[in-house]
Amino acid sequence: MNAAILCLDLGGTNARLGLVSIDGRVLQRRRWKMSPPGNADSLYDYLGNRIVRFMSGVGTGSRPAAVVIGFAGPTWSAGGYVYCSPNIGQLAGLNIGPELSQRLSMPVLVANDANCAALGEYWRGAGAGTGSMFLFTIGTGVGGGLVADGELWEGSAGIAGEVGHTVVAIDGPMCTCGSRGCLEALVSATAIVRAYRKVLPGGLDHGVPITAKMIFARARHGDAAARAVIARAGKALGVGIANVYHLLNPEVIVIGGGVGRAGRLLIAPAVEMARGLVFGPLRDRLRVSRAKLGDDAALIGGAYLASRKLGL
Ligand SMILES: [Zn+2]
Repeated sequence: MNAAILCLDLGGTNARLGLVSIDGRVLQRRRWKMSPPGNADSLYDYLGNRIVRFMSGVGTGSRPAAVVIGFAGPTWSAGGYVYCSPNIGQLAGLNIGPELSQRLSMPVLVANDANCAALGEYWRGAGAGTGSMFLFTIGTGVGGGLVADGELWEGSAGIAGEVGHTVVAIDGPMCTCGSRGCLEALVSATAIVRAYRKVLPGGLDHGVPITAKMIFARARHGDAAARAVIARAGKALGVGIANVYHLLNPEVIVIGGGVGRAGRLLIAPAVEMARGLVFGPLRDRLRVSRAKLGDDAALIGGAYLASRKLGL
């Protein structure tokens, strides 16, 4: 077996573990429902045991060269440190990289999950062949990541690319971070559901829980309220795209994540809005693409990160 990287993408409800070859192919993957314990030591045991169990099932007799763990929330990969994580609060402040590295006797890198996904799309997805790419990943929350000349830009303290918490409407709805009008408060699945509930007569729609997926399906079937809510979210995304383009001027802006995958109903108004905001002579150069790798992006990007940082 050639060198491979074990990549773990930790979400709030689901976790994905993948063995990824050094050239970016997902060789094996596993998914499970998260039920992380509350204190740090138990959490290290929980993650360590999951990783060991997965490795024992690989069945090749060969160990991966490194482990990469992607988290939602600001994460400082150089120090292996998680500042805070909206989905797994008990991760806050933990030096999880060095701790797990000691327990597993192998390098363990940590990174923001959107940064991992950005690296994956840049390497093997919608950004392949470009010099610079910014990824918006839109799901329950909104994340982002910048890759330029083959390198992830994490900033001085690891929070570069947190585009979900850039403010695009100063009097907009409250965000989970405590600010108002963040992109996440206008475009995420949670925001779309909240906006749709407000315009829906009766609010709860016969008691059936409403999801963003259902709202997109209704919009495709002609529900005017659903279309209007998605178009409005698309315009907010367009403001975010124009801001990123003016600030960083990437060669391509890629839209991914569960909501991003929903497609044209969201992205068409976003691109139209962004083109209207970008400096005139540059409008035709603005390139927006949909992500190609789906849920594998963060796993594949994790392997890229490990190969760059560890010189594999
Ligand atoms: Zn926010």
